[in-house]
Amino acid sequence: MTETALVLFSGGQDSTVCLAWALDRFAAVETIGFDYGQRHIVELACRGQIIDRLRGQFPAWAARLGPDHVLDLGILNTISETALTREVAIETGETGLPTTFVPGRNLVFLTFAGAVAYRRGARHLVGGMCETDFSGYPDCRDDSLKAMQIALNLGMDRRFVIHTPLMWIDKAATWAMAQALGGEALIDVIVEETHSCYHGVREKRHPWGYGCGQCPACELRARGWTGFQARP
Ligand code: ZN
Repeated sequence: MTETALVLFSGGQDSTVCLAWALDRFAAVETIGFDYGQRHIVELACRGQIIDRLRGQFPAWAARLGPDHVLDLGILNTISETALTREVAIETGETGLPTTFVPGRNLVFLTFAGAVAYRRGARHLVGGMCETDFSGYPDCRDDSLKAMQIALNLGMDRRFVIHTPLMWIDKAATWAMAQALGGEALIDVIVEETHSCYHGVREKRHPWGYGCGQCPACELRARGWTGFQARP
């Protein structure tokens, strides 16, 4: 495809696989990240490392990989009382959603991503949203994203396409997708450089990467890895 994609790239496992997916398909790929006062800035810090390794180890991808955009969305921190941005326990809140939920966060991200894509001439937006390991985030639902695509196209008078390659696959299949896209080299980048742990732990190395091993994000990642290893 001769077109440009903008990947919502957080430095986590899912968005790294989405970045590889886009690099495999589009002629030009740019990345965007959002700094919103995450309690653990470690995920954002991983982004540069991941991009450097993709550039260094995948020459075909390096040729397509364009600029990285980081937007300051600290305003989200001032309007949210959540576990990621304040010292609140990570648990299921009274709304039935995890306290890690920043209301409407992905809608905000997609709006800003759309604005940057508009300026950069990118038609395709790529995000790692997923309904399969559903943690209750309503703005990760397929319907929310399809509605968002229509809203962006009407509001910006464009024909954006929002791609969510992980929407209907589980974490084991996400690892398998990484392997299909970039082999063991990409698996190694994901294990060593991507971050999922809610507690920002980078000191403890597991077969699936770094993290506390206890929080919901670590549990999900570990379970996915086990499923991936068990695949025939
Ligand atoms: Zn953890």
